[in-house]
Amino acid sequence: MGKPGARLKARLKAIDGKGYGAYKSIADVYDFDDYILHFDHVQSDPFAAPTRLRLVIPPDIARLPREALTNRRRRIACADYLNRLAAAALQARSRQRGSGVSGIIGILQPGQQILERTSLQIDEEGKIVVRLTAGLPAEGRRVRADDAIAILMEDVPGAIRHSLIAGAFSESTLLRHVRLTEESSALRAQLADHGLVAFVREGAVLPRRSGIDDTPFARARAVAFESPESLRVELKASAESGVTGMGVPQGVTLIVGGGYHGKSTLLRALERGVYDHIENDGRELVVSVASAVKVRAEDGRRVAGVDISNFISGLPGGEDTRCFDTDNASGSTSQAATIVEALEVGASCLLMDEDTSATNFMIRDARMQALIHDDAEPITPFIDRAKQLYDELGVSSVIVVGGAGDYFDIADTVIGMNAYKPADLTLQAKRIAASFDTRRNREGGTWMPLRTRVPQPASIDPRKGKKAVSIKVPTQERILFGTEELDLSAVEQIVELAQARAIAQALAYGADRWIDGKRSLLEGLRDLCAEIHRHGLDVIDSRNAGNYAEFRIYELAAALNRLRTLRIESGSR
Ligand code: ADP
Ligand code: MG
Repeated sequence: MGKPGARLKARLKAIDGKGYGAYKSIADVYDFDDYILHFDHVQSDPFAAPTRLRLVIPPDIARLPREALTNRRRRIACADYLNRLAAAALQARSRQRGSGVSGIIGILQPGQQILERTSLQIDEEGKIVVRLTAGLPAEGRRVRADDAIAILMEDVPGAIRHSLIAGAFSESTLLRHVRLTEESSALRAQLADHGLVAFVREGAVLPRRSGIDDTPFARARAVAFESPESLRVELKASAESGVTGMGVPQGVTLIVGGGYHGKSTLLRALERGVYDHIENDGRELVVSVASAVKVRAEDGRRVAGVDISNFISGLPGGEDTRCFDTDNASGSTSQAATIVEALEVGASCLLMDEDTSATNFMIRDARMQALIHDDAEPITPFIDRAKQLYDELGVSSVIVVGGAGDYFDIADTVIGMNAYKPADLTLQAKRIAASFDTRRNREGGTWMPLRTRVPQPASIDPRKGKKAVSIKVPTQERILFGTEELDLSAVEQIVELAQARAIAQALAYGADRWIDGKRSLLEGLRDLCAEIHRHGLDVIDSRNAGNYAEFRIYELAAALNRLRTLRIESGSR
């Protein structure tokens, strides 16, 4: 047990007005009424990253409902809920009190999805561990004891009392949050049995407030989702209750419709359906298979030793596309590489939008085939692979197509969006396909198995200057990894900054340990993810960091694959 909490007050008083470094002397463990307080890191300067606190609240103080603790996913949802309450309570007590970050208190702020985060964790017994940051206050560079006392003895305890202690939270709202996660997972687990890759609940609100705001469009202005009769299914959300909505079947599905009629919005909801959303998000119970991966063109990206030969072969320079390397991919080669990389780590459903696809990768029509002979065109367009991917590898695709009716030939399902309302246009599209021959020749031939890739650990190097690990993540789209800069702006299923941070840290942690120069990329990343799943996100960082969120293997692989230094040894097929 730690020192009594009152000791902290005495220690702060004793250093009032001293140089900022005197704060280091308070680093200790203190016993408060409601929790044990640990100082995991004391900042050295009022302008440096704030001090990190860890609070451990025992089960008999928090008194969480049993139902919220009985499995891992429930505990994560419970923690996610309490994290939100704590964030609001701390925010209300945070204010500038002196120079630099003085007086600013906070905790990782969750987005619209329910995720495991290292900011707040709950164990089987109902013990809560919370990680906060607090800017210890300074006047210039001198200790301001009164403000420090207010923060550590009043504001933080007050915020905790008003958010995480029995009586502060509504047990029924908390349990609703937990059940929402359970229901989402239950739906996701049923998709395959029903031959589906995604499900959109009746009444869902899919559009977002703006391109940079993930909260829902105002309900009054949004057209609520309404499933077409023929695609309507009922799934079981729980033992007692069913939920109806549109099932998106396995196979090749097109989303068609006029410009501005809601095609991309539907696809984006499917992309995000790999996550569980909070209440009132609008996308609650809109789910996709866990292995659905968004793919897009990304010219300029790095590609390291990827076997893109099923899509691209016979380049004019004679490069071997079974082990393709470039620092500056074109639209089509980047899209091909991104698909292959997703397949490599187990994607079972590809999501693509023509808005962000390379046209020449998606389609080559009859006239172009007549003008440019097959031998002079390295690309086998996706239209000639989509059906084969499903028939031979069981990989579905959902593609937004507003322009290329040639796709009707290979589609299993065609969903037409009209003024934000979906209709099942499969039969009509098939009829049109039968009466208007595209006169295209099928290209590509058989699908060749992909070569395995073995990433070289020395090429994943987080060192910078004297630092063994230097990682900075200014936005969720940009990671500074050692001396390298990693652009994740095209990895659209990274949805929180804390995920990008965790991915960067996991790469640094996993290099050597799991990415060992012997394991394939798939084995290495799978083993790394398995370790994280077994021991929790904390394993990737020994510093008690409170700013990581869980991520999928697909986004981890996407980050690794975009590292410009990455070197690959190619195995056999
Ligand atoms: P498309 O891809 O078909 O061109 P988008 O999906 O980009 O169309 O949608 C166009 C606009 O309509 C966007 O601003 C989007 O926010 C809005 N929108 C999409 N779905 C709905 C809806 N269900 N209700 C109201 N507005 C919507
Ligand atoms: Mg669009």
